[in-house]
Amino acid sequence: MLTDLQIAIFGGDARQLEVIRKLTEQGANLVLVGFDQLDHGFTGASKMDMGEVDFAKLDFIVLPVNGTGPNGEIDTIFSNKSIVITSSHLKQTPEHCHVYSGITNKYLNGIIAESGRGHTQLFERDDVAIYNSIPTVEGTLMMVIQNTDTTIHKSNTVVLGFGRVGMSVARAFAALGARVKVGARKPEHLARISEMGFIPFYLDDLKKEVIDTDVCINTIPFQIVTSDIISKMPTHTLIIDLASKPGGTDFKYAEKRGIKALLAPGLPGIVAPKTAGQILGNVLSQLIKEEMVNRKGKP
Ligand code: NAP
Repeated sequence: MLTDLQIAIFGGDARQLEVIRKLTEQGANLVLVGFDQLDHGFTGASKMDMGEVDFAKLDFIVLPVNGTGPNGEIDTIFSNKSIVITSSHLKQTPEHCHVYSGITNKYLNGIIAESGRGHTQLFERDDVAIYNSIPTVEGTLMMVIQNTDTTIHKSNTVVLGFGRVGMSVARAFAALGARVKVGARKPEHLARISEMGFIPFYLDDLKKEVIDTDVCINTIPFQIVTSDIISKMPTHTLIIDLASKPGGTDFKYAEKRGIKALLAPGLPGIVAPKTAGQILGNVLSQLIKEEMVNRKGKP
C-alpha cells in the first residue's frame, strides 16, 4: 500500500486517469495539477493550481509521459491553464522526492541535475516499452489504414529500427500479409530480423531499399529519413514517423515532394489510453513501493 504518501500528478492525457486510479486505490494522497476541467473526482485526490502546491510535502512527482516541453511546459488535456515546472519548484521538495516521467529531454535533465532529485524514465524500462509497443502498433495500423487506399496485405512496408517498437511493428504488419523489410545497423539485429521471417537490410543501404516502398515506418529517433532518402521513394509512399519528437524525417522535404509524412507521437494515449494508463499505473505503484523499501533500508 502507498498509504500516507504525498504524490503530485502534473498534467498529462487520459492515461494519467488510470495512474490516478491505481495510486488512489493503493491509499496514496494525490495532488492533481492541470485537471481543473476533469469532471470526475477521485477519493484521496485534490485538484490544485501550481501556485497552491506545497512542494515541501511531496514524496513523489509524476510528470506526463513526454516529461516537459523544451522550457518546462507541462502538457495537459484537462486544463487550459499553462503549467511550467522549474528547478526552483523541485528544490522546494524534500531531498528524497523522486520524479517520474515517460521520457526526458534536455530541460528536464537540467532541472533534475540542478535540484539533485532522483528521476526515473519509465520508458527506459524494457517491460514498459514492450507493453507500450502493443497500443503503439495498433495506432500505427490505424494511421496506415486511414491514410492509404490500398491494403496492408501485399504492401511493401519498410520498418526503420529494430528496438522494442520496431520489432512489434514489423511482426504485426507481416502478420497482416505485408512484405516487411527492416533496416537496422547491428549484425545481430539483421540476424534476428531474418530469423523472424522479415527481409533485413543495413541502414547504410536505405537509399536503395526504399525505391518500391508503399509504407515506411520510422522508429529511430535520429534524422534518418532525410531528403536524400525521400527523393528515392515513390510519390505514393506513406511515411509514419513514430520516433519521439521531432521524429527522424525531413517533413518539409517530404511535403515539397508531395509525399505524405506524418509524425505520430503518443499513439497509446490516443488509441488505448486505458490500457496504456494501466501499464504505467501498475509499474509506477511497483516502483514507488520498491523506492519506499530502499529508503527504509538506508541507515
Ligand atoms: P529502442 O528500443 O531504443 O529502439 C530504437 C531503435 O533505433 C533501435 O533499433 C536503435 O538501434 C535505433 N537507433 C537509435 N539511434 C540510431 C541511430 N543514430 N542510427 C541508427 N539506428 C538508431 O526504442 P523503442 O522503444 O523501440 O522506441 C523507438 C522510438 O519510438 C522512441 O523515440 C520512442 O520514444 C518512440 N515511441 C513512440 C511512440 C508513439 O506513439 N509514437 C510509442 C512508443 C515509443 P541500435 O540498437 O543499433 O541502437
